Order: sequence, then C-alpha cells, then structure tokens
Amino acid sequence: MARVGVFVCHCGENIARTVDVAKVAEFARTVPGVVLSDHYTYFCSAPGQKKVQEAIQQQSLTGVVVAACSPHLHEPTFRGASSQAGLNPFLCEMANIREQCSWVHAKGEAATNKACAIVASMVEKVKRSHPLRPIEVPLTKRALVIGGGVAGIRAALDIANAGYPVTLVERQPTIGGNMARLSETFPTLDCSQCILTPLMVEASRHPKIELLTYAEVQEVNGYVGNFKVRIKKKPRYVREELCTGCDDCVPVCPVSLPNEFDMNLSWRKAIYLPFPQAVPAVYTLDASQCVNSTLESKSGYRVLACERCSQACGPKAIDYDMEPEILEREVGAVVVASGYNLMQAEEAREYGYGKHPDVLDGFEFERLLSASGPTGGEVRRPSDGKVPKEVVFIQCVGSRDPQRGVPYCSRVCCMYTAKHALLFKHKVPDGKAYVFYMDIRAAGKGYEEFVNRVMEEERVLYLRGRVSRVVSEDGKLLVYGTDTLAGQPVRMRADLVVLATAMVPSSDGELARKLRVPTDAYGFFQEVHPKLRPVETLTAGVFLAGSAQSPKDIPDTVAHASAAGSKALELFSKPVLHREPIIAQVNEGACNGCFDCERVCPYRAMERKEIRDRQGNLIRLVARVNEAMCEGCGLCTAACRSRSIDLFGFSEEQIFAQLAAVAPAPIEAQACLA
Ligand SMILES: Cc1cc2nc3c(=O)[nH]c(=O)nc-3n(C[C@H](O)[C@H](O)[C@H](O)COP(=O)(O)OP(=O)(O)OC[C@H]3O[C@@H](n4cnc5c(N)ncnc54)[C@H](O)[C@@H]3O)c2cc1C
Repeated sequence: MARVGVFVCHCGENIARTVDVAKVAEFARTVPGVVLSDHYTYFCSAPGQKKVQEAIQQQSLTGVVVAACSPHLHEPTFRGASSQAGLNPFLCEMANIREQCSWVHAKGEAATNKACAIVASMVEKVKRSHPLRPIEVPLTKRALVIGGGVAGIRAALDIANAGYPVTLVERQPTIGGNMARLSETFPTLDCSQCILTPLMVEASRHPKIELLTYAEVQEVNGYVGNFKVRIKKKPRYVREELCTGCDDCVPVCPVSLPNEFDMNLSWRKAIYLPFPQAVPAVYTLDASQCVNSTLESKSGYRVLACERCSQACGPKAIDYDMEPEILEREVGAVVVASGYNLMQAEEAREYGYGKHPDVLDGFEFERLLSASGPTGGEVRRPSDGKVPKEVVFIQCVGSRDPQRGVPYCSRVCCMYTAKHALLFKHKVPDGKAYVFYMDIRAAGKGYEEFVNRVMEEERVLYLRGRVSRVVSEDGKLLVYGTDTLAGQPVRMRADLVVLATAMVPSSDGELARKLRVPTDAYGFFQEVHPKLRPVETLTAGVFLAGSAQSPKDIPDTVAHASAAGSKALELFSKPVLHREPIIAQVNEGACNGCFDCERVCPYRAMERKEIRDRQGNLIRLVARVNEAMCEGCGLCTAACRSRSIDLFGFSEEQIFAQLAAVAPAPIEAQACLA
C-alpha cells in the first residue's frame, strides 16, 4: 500500500502569491495513496526539510512529493533529506508548481487548479516508483584541456598542480591564445606577454602536462570519467625534440608571407616561429606556402620544399616526410577553453575597414602598440608609416547591434578602448584621441577609476553617439557621426580609426558537436546554469573555461578557468563515480532485435547481446544497455516498436498514470475549491 506525503512549498511569495497553497495541500489529501499533506513557507530551509524527514519517519511514508520549484534546483536537496530519513531518494519527486505554474499564470483558480493537477500527476508517478541504487562507474583520473589560451593554461596548471595528468591540446603552433597578442592589459597596464609567458613556460615544463600544439581533437567518445579521445597532430615538418630554436632556417627561406600573429601588419617566412616567446620554441614549416616542389608526402600533403632550411639546420630537425599523427588518450574530464575571435570588421562596411588601410580593429592596434609588434611599439599609420596625430576610436562595432552584428555586449571593449586611447596618448603626447561610445561599461575592480583617469588626466574626449560612416579624403579619414548629448552631427578628420569589434566564438560548432555540448544562440558553449553552474555543461564531465563560454576579460577568464579546473578535481577526488540510475532497460524476451534503438541513441549506449542455447548456438541478437554510457534521454524507449525498452524512473506505466491523473484532477480540484 502506497503511503505518500505531499509537501506544498510557498517559495516565499513566488508560489503563494499566485497559487492557493493551502487548497493545493487540502486537495492532495483527496488523492488516493496520500496519507499526509502540508504547506510551508520554505520547505528547502533546514526546518522545512526537517518537517519532511519527520513525516517520512513518523508516517512510514513510501513516497514523497514536494510541490515547489524546478527539480533542477532542489531535487538533490529533497532526495538527500529523504535518504537521510531512511527513504530511497528515488522515491522522492518534485512537482514543479513554480516555473510551470505560478510564474507563468496570473493569480486565480486556474493557477491553483493547475497546481493540483501537477501534484496529482506526481503522486501517481511516485506510487509506481521503485527504489533505485546509483550506478558505480570506474574513473580515469586524467584531464583533456582543449585550447591553450590563458584559460586553458590556467585550468591545466590547476589540475596538474593537484597531481593529476593533463593533456593540453592547442591548434596553433604555440600556446598563449589572444592574450599573447595584447600589448599591455587594463586596468593595471601590465605588459601582457610579461605576465603570460611565465605561465606558458610553466605549463610546457610541468611534469604532469602533456603539451600537444598544432593539434586538434578529432573525435570524443565515451562518458564522464571514461572519455576516449582521438587527437590529430599536424605535421610541423620540424622535429620538436631536435629543434633548438636557433633561427638559422629563417634567413635562408625565400618565401615571405603576411604574419597572422601581427594581424598581417608584418611579414614572416614559410618556416617560422609565431612570436619570439612562443611555447614550444620550435619552428613550423608552413607546407602549403613552401617553394620548389620536390616532395609529396604519403598523407597527401604536398610539401614543396627548396630544402634551403634543411641545409641550414645544424641539428637536422627538418623532416619533409613528417606525417599527421593520430594520438589516442583516455581521460576522465574535458575542459573546453577554445576562446573567441573578433567579428570580421568588414561586416561594418560603413566604417571603411578593408577599404582604407588606416581603419584597424582592436587586435591590429594592439600589435601597433606592442614592443614586440611590427613597429617596435611605435604607433604608425599602416598606409604611410607616419605617426598619427588624431585617432578616433569607435566602440560597439557589431556588439549590441542585432541588425548587423550580435545583440550582446562584448564586455571588454569599453575597457580596452580606454586602454588604447591612454597608450596612444603616452606614445604620442601631442596626439588627440576621441572615443565614440554608446554607454561606458566599466564594472570591474579598478575599471571605473581607469576610465575616469583616461577621460580626466589623459584628456581623451569621449563623445556619446554613433558613427554613421568613415570615408577617406586627401590622405585623411573623415568620420561622420552624431554627438547625442550635444544633439549635433559631428564631422571630424582622423589619421587613424580603431574599431572595437564584437567578440564572437572561435569555434564554428564542430567542436561542440564532437563533445555533444550545446551552444547558445550565438555559438558560445552553453553552461548548465548561468548563475549556479557556470562552468558545467549538460554533458557530464565536460567543463567550460574562459571566453569559450561568453566574452570575458582576463581576470574573469582566469577565475572561470580555475573554477573549471576545480570541477575536474572534484570529479577526480572520488574513488569511483556514482551515476544516476535513470537509464534505459531492455526486456530481452520482448526485444525483436530491430536495433532501431541503436540507431537513435546519441550516446552510443545500445549494444548487441547474443542469446545462445545450451549448446552455445546463436539463437538471436537482442539490444542491451551499456549502463555507464546511457544518459537516460529516453529516445530508445520512444523508438522501440516492440515496446521492450523502458526507462527507470520514467516507465511507461508511470507516464500513462501521470497523464490519466492530469485530466480528471482539475475537475476534482474544482470540487475541492468550491
Ligand atoms: C583588442 C582586445 C584587447 C584586450 N585587452 C584586454 C586587457 O587589456 N585586459 C583584459 O583583461 N582583457 C583584455 N582582452 C580580453 C582577453 O583577450 C581575453 O580575456 C582572453 O584572451 C581570453 O582568453 P581565453 O583563453 O578564454 O581565449 P583565447 O585567448 O581566445 O584562447 C583560446 C585558445 O584556444 C585555441 N583553440 C580554439 N579552438 C581550438 C580547438 N578546436 N582545438 C584546440 N585549440 C583551440 C585558440 O587557438 C587559442 O589559443 C582584450 C580583448 C581584445 C579583443
């Protein structure tokens, strides 16, 4: 005989303002199987949980329904409380009468009726629930970190410093990411490379970190604690173990190419080191750009080598026969730190980017400011090499602009524009800097003070308003805009225009697909909960670090990365993993072996089991669930035509009983409310 207790929570006023909680509790008592019901301001509070526990023990309850908020929030709270009181936690269910009722309806009978229906339906479910035990899964205590920007480096170091091995995969020939490109960093104006390179070196020398640069993750299989990863290491045509970084190969190389690290504002050779402090300090031969075809590798890569670099190389590190290498690693946790890109400034055509060489984006200006940049840190116009005297900075190019860019704020542009204006004034003291802005967003430690310093002490003129277009005239740029505070159109001459373009995800979605992690509407990796679980993803064991999740400055990136690292460590702190037993089960006797379930399962959790007779002869194949891989999504249950698959905790019997309960409940509820 079922003995169910129903506990209706007011959630302060969140539920009680709209739903008549006393009437819901009264109604619950009329549902067959319910022996007790109660309502209380906050059942999630310590006294509230105590009430539930006392009821379980005093009334010998066989099931509990807490009518409150979403199970995402407090299911673990109430299942934990039930378990402590001696009830199997899977016999406790949440009836969500907040998000699915009080928050979406106006106060009145209809909202109360709906709450009654939800409660009745959950009572029917819990009456048909069975005690379940968590599944134990072994665990590989090694992490994979994807992306070697400051986020990936920080997460890798945190995990490795705690004693666990890490494989850090970076697709570029060096780690460092976008931070390596920056000149100085707001608000403290530390030299970016000076604070980053010690971390890069530490990561490369760490005995627990395996650094794989010029590499990309090809395939990820498995599940939390037990991922199997295939990594493709692209051929550098330079043996890492032999290259001494002496640079002898570079002067002899006859091919000059635009240098991507310097945003194409300088030149590099076909064999190159991306920047002097690159880690590893190993050269890379850009095979697609090499001259004088002599070789064709087995992999289909065409290496067009003149062999001058090879002849100049003392340690004989150059190897034109190098092939892509496929590496396989088993890891328990994955940290995604794939970072961001800048929106293509060409998309804001009215600002003349791509048409006028003196219209730059933020990274290009960073390289001009940088001591290791193409001009040695002197600000010079790309068009004629002259020192610009008047620079116009335009904020929110593509950000907060759903028509031509993205609706979100990129969060760092107000600050780096202030930094750009300040550094320009330091380098060109008689220069003039103007900033067009929509609002100033300077929420960070020392940020507001920094912007004020730029406006007041550095005398940078801030103009509130939009720029409508930038055109060139007589070797100068003409900027047309509006000063919305003065209520006047503005037309000013400039030597250089710098656009603060939107930050967008670096990944095109391919990585998210491989990891089976959802992305948000803009392509950034989606966290489980923006406030309470900002580094976890819906795929257990995959965590997010830095600007791969949303635009972030360096302090926020580093904090987020350390949080991701600590989530991986939390996982590794357990001897084995306990997984929720909400998984599919196959009735082998009824299974007809069509394997539709195998086809629809996104987690590759359906296996084929051989049924043999006593003599060992194969009779038939049936489906079997790999308990460690099943995520309990229920797709196989829906696809199974012989109805031989069911889901623990969501059985067909439970779902039909719930549906049946929903229809008559409002009518019964009407009676109770009358
Ligand atoms: C113009 C400009 C100026 C800025 N100035 C400042 C400043 O002064 N102060 C400040 O606090 N912040 C500043 N920022 C923000 C700062 O750049 C970011 O906070 C920081 O770089 C974020 O680091 P990240 O590691 O998350 O991402 P990234 O730096 O983008 O690193 C991501 C890394 O992942 C790699 N990667 C991507 N996809 C893959 C893949 N599939 N496989 C393997 N590797 C992959 C990339 O190659 C890259 O190395 C500025 C930003 C801009 C645009």
